[in-house]
Amino acid sequence: MSTKPSEVLNSMDAFWNDDLATADPEIAAAISKELARQQDKIELIASENIASKAVLEATGSVFTNKYAEGYPGKRYYGGCDYADVVETLAIERAKELFGCNFANVQPNSGSQMNQAVFLALLQPGDTFMGLDLNSGGHLTHGSPVNMSGKWFNPVSYGVREGDELIDMDAVAATAREHKPKLIICGGTAYSRTWDFSAFRAIADEVGAILLCDMSHISGLVAGGAHPSPFPHCDIVTSTTHKSLRGPRSGIILWNDEKFTKPLNMAVFPGLQGGPLMHVVAAKAVAFREALTPEFKSYAHRIVENARALAASLEENGLRIVSGGTDNHSMLVDLTAKNVTGKDAEKGLDRAWLTCNKNGIPFDTRSPFITSGIRLGTPAGTTRGFGPAEFRTVGKLIAEVVDGLSKNGAEGDAQIEESVRGRVAELCAAFPVYPNA
Ligand SMILES: *Cc1c(COP(=O)(O)O)cnc(C)c1O
Repeated sequence: MSTKPSEVLNSMDAFWNDDLATADPEIAAAISKELARQQDKIELIASENIASKAVLEATGSVFTNKYAEGYPGKRYYGGCDYADVVETLAIERAKELFGCNFANVQPNSGSQMNQAVFLALLQPGDTFMGLDLNSGGHLTHGSPVNMSGKWFNPVSYGVREGDELIDMDAVAATAREHKPKLIICGGTAYSRTWDFSAFRAIADEVGAILLCDMSHISGLVAGGAHPSPFPHCDIVTSTTHKSLRGPRSGIILWNDEKFTKPLNMAVFPGLQGGPLMHVVAAKAVAFREALTPEFKSYAHRIVENARALAASLEENGLRIVSGGTDNHSMLVDLTAKNVTGKDAEKGLDRAWLTCNKNGIPFDTRSPFITSGIRLGTPAGTTRGFGPAEFRTVGKLIAEVVDGLSKNGAEGDAQIEESVRGRVAELCAAFPVYPNA
């Protein structure tokens, strides 16, 4: 029996027109609950943010259908006219935003952007240097469970025991001893200003290439609230979804043309096939947003808010690693309260404050337990919180931690209930996606 044209039309009618709630109620329900979670809780995870409606729209666009292997003007597929338009705009905007000569906007993620740098510049077994994970370095900077640590030879530098700042003399000594081919600056849980020119001097002395992975702070760099890694660093990588407030993705930036071919070849065809063109389009949108005066003000408010949060936590009896913050993030040491990072993360979540447990420098507890939490202000600043709101958040965190300190892992239910009420008030006053 053959299908009648009208039956095809009927089934295709649903394909073209059904919204997600009709087509897949289970997934639609989970998405709508996730939206409510983002609206009703205070997001303090330092690596997260809240992207604009325009960024979400580009991410959910018809570019998801398009293969565009290759680069603008040199593709392996037909029909790439508009893919070329968005990728060229993304490249030009990235270069303008960060003041550099070249950009690759295709890496699918932060991990892949760093893998591409390794593939382009190092051979398996080569020595490179990065910030130790226990001092706030990233998995892709030489962790033994990551490819960077399995296939290459990482040597690390860390923070000093006294002031918990990166010890530049130790960085120089380690570089002289091991002669790394590549030195990485940048990390995931370091709240102080990076001295890029000091890293440059060390890299020059030992003949290393200098990479800055500015994933966490790129929004601050874009807005002039942290010094730029250019012109000091040879190559700069960044995720685009943290303080930069774009879609989940990565970029690679550089100035010297000698890196162009190796880096581009490493991304495609070295590591990736077709780029996620919908995400490339969304990156272009985010870069345009980041070029505005409003974003500059946003970046400075992130830092101002982080200082207010850190000060409030200290006033309420919690120790901040290194005594404060210069950027968007901070580590809170819970040792004196005899509360673990794991219990704090859970207790704060019960009180609708979302953060992550995090090891502190020289932590004696395992990475699954930890002695600290990491907090960040990019998402809260996006929803409109200022220093007054972040001072309140600091007080609420301290109340929950004191409940845990008194009662152990289950915390103080009464305190947590009362904190939830005040979180709800703050969230109602500063709505997220109010028309969604
Ligand atoms: C987040 C981060 C990455 C990895 O990004 P993913 O997109 O999660 O793979 C790499 N480097 C640093 C410093 C980061 O903070």
